[in-house]
Amino acid sequence: MNKWPYLLPLLLFFSGCAGITSGTRNLLNTSCEIKVSGVSRGKALRAIDAAFREVERASAIFNFYDSKSELSRVNRLAYPGPVRVSAELFSVLEDAVKISEITDGAFDVSIAPVVSLWKSRFSEGLPPQTSEIRQLLSLVDYRNMVLNRNDMTVSFTKKGMRVDLGGIAKGYAVKLAAGRLREYGIRNALINFGGDIQAIGSRRNDTPWKVGIRHPRSNRETLLTTIEVSDRCVFTSGDYERFFIFNGIRYHHIIDPKTGYPARGCVSFTIITDDPVYADGLATGCFILGPVNGPASAKRVPHTDFIVVEETDKGGVRVSSSMNLPGISKKSP
Ligand code: ADP
Ligand code: MG
Repeated sequence: MNKWPYLLPLLLFFSGCAGITSGTRNLLNTSCEIKVSGVSRGKALRAIDAAFREVERASAIFNFYDSKSELSRVNRLAYPGPVRVSAELFSVLEDAVKISEITDGAFDVSIAPVVSLWKSRFSEGLPPQTSEIRQLLSLVDYRNMVLNRNDMTVSFTKKGMRVDLGGIAKGYAVKLAAGRLREYGIRNALINFGGDIQAIGSRRNDTPWKVGIRHPRSNRETLLTTIEVSDRCVFTSGDYERFFIFNGIRYHHIIDPKTGYPARGCVSFTIITDDPVYADGLATGCFILGPVNGPASAKRVPHTDFIVVEETDKGGVRVSSSMNLPGISKKSP
């Protein structure tokens, strides 16, 4: 008897439901995971490896702490400048400026000197002196960074200015990883770099990827909610990842350029949008703007949703969102 007609449906079944293949690396100071669905394990692993290699390459350019990185070269030479940069760094700096404009200057890559001051105090858990903050704050204003597209140069108009792309570097890395996966023919993937996510296509057939939003005042496993996403990014900025408590006050790593102090008002701000660079930058900028002005700013970017968490007087949290989510109040910007 010819078994072929019986085997064929079985073979099609197995090739059609190739499972999920995942890879994990420690990059960008965090755990980075990529899951690929719907292709053979070999094809998925080759794509995942290529995506991680691309992230590694780019993170060397943007490393603020590596004196040999291209970003460090800019920080050394852009005053008085001009300094010529790669098209890649130039376009990330341009995106940073656009995000500053959308967030009315709350997101500002020139915050670097003040962020460095705060970060230097994290190990001892002591806030800097107001006078130190004020002095460095005078160097902060993204409008003093001059980008000239004709000759791909950057100049700073103030001595001592520096830029730190920490607020969008992860978004850019996710964008590169997604691009590489697509080049390798991947149509369904979930990129998760330290909890910041891009969903490509769907999980299986037409089932969207499910993304859990962490409760910012509970243990890592407790979720506020779960959202379903296809071809969208979910990025969160919060006060709970890196912080210290001094005299009962929480000091974290997201600094308001208006005050030079850690931004107050939000516990976390999640952005759901198409482009990961904007998702990352907007999450940081809207977190700083707070629960009233942040949502209005987020809505300036088309196809953008948000979830904002605030602390209540009683020490609990209040959650609101532009999306209809069970148990979460609806907030219009
Ligand atoms: P994380 O990288 O921890 O997930 P964010 O995306 O919110 O969180 O980025 C925080 C980083 O952004 C800080 O570590 C700092 O390097 C940088 N940053 C802090 N304040 C600002 C600001 N006002 N504008 C732009 N970048 C900032
Ligand atoms: Mg960010």
